Amino acid sequence: CGIVGYIGKRDVAPLLLEGLQRLEYRGYDSAGIAVGGKSGLKTVKAKGRVRGLDDKLPKRFAGTSGIAHTRWATHGAPNDENAHPHLDAEGRVAIVHNGIIDNASELRAKLTADGVEFASETDSEVLAHLIGRDPADTLEEKVRHALRLVEGTYGIAVLHAGFPDRIVVARNGSPVVLGIGEKEMFVSSDVAALVSHTRQVVTLDDGEMATVKADDYRTYTTEGSHTSASPTTVEWEA
Ligand code: GLU
Repeated sequence: CGIVGYIGKRDVAPLLLEGLQRLEYRGYDSAGIAVGGKSGLKTVKAKGRVRGLDDKLPKRFAGTSGIAHTRWATHGAPNDENAHPHLDAEGRVAIVHNGIIDNASELRAKLTADGVEFASETDSEVLAHLIGRDPADTLEEKVRHALRLVEGTYGIAVLHAGFPDRIVVARNGSPVVLGIGEKEMFVSSDVAALVSHTRQVVTLDDGEMATVKADDYRTYTTEGSHTSASPTTVEWEA
């Protein structure tokens, strides 16, 4: 249902929680957050309100990047396990996903036959495993290869412990926008989550991906060709 991500110098968790709160008007049944940095990924998820998630966060939940989600369940009950982010088997990849993966049960059956154990009942979790198991050298390639295997709609944001300097996002049928700040970047499914921090926004098209670093971003198609991505200024009544 809702995605927020941040990479930059500030403490990530409070920024992400604030972003999630700005998405509450869309409705959701659970929420979760993953932060990344040199020491790996940490995740907390909770059924119910963003405030409940906030209460569950450990005092020290520091990171230099993070992704968060409010879920509106389509596959699997609303509970802590099915809340996003979802991790791969090694806990090195975290993904948040809006939309529906139509061929998830097929992909799940194949991955299970390969020995993968699933932690949730969601369609989304296949993405974390597909990315985690892909042998490509770059995160962008791993994500691209995974997306080639899925059918359906998605807005996704991906963190990888091996690539702590970036968040990779992709869009097909479910909105993704980038918020361009000063030595910090935001990603979201909804400009409402960004406008308190920046009015400079890049809106991805269907079939488009982006690599977002603290001081730089680039956009390209899921086939890998470069796309132009000049920010536009959004008007917003505070
Ligand atoms: N289909 C996914 C799920 O059920 C994502 C739902 C959403 O967009 O919030 O977990």
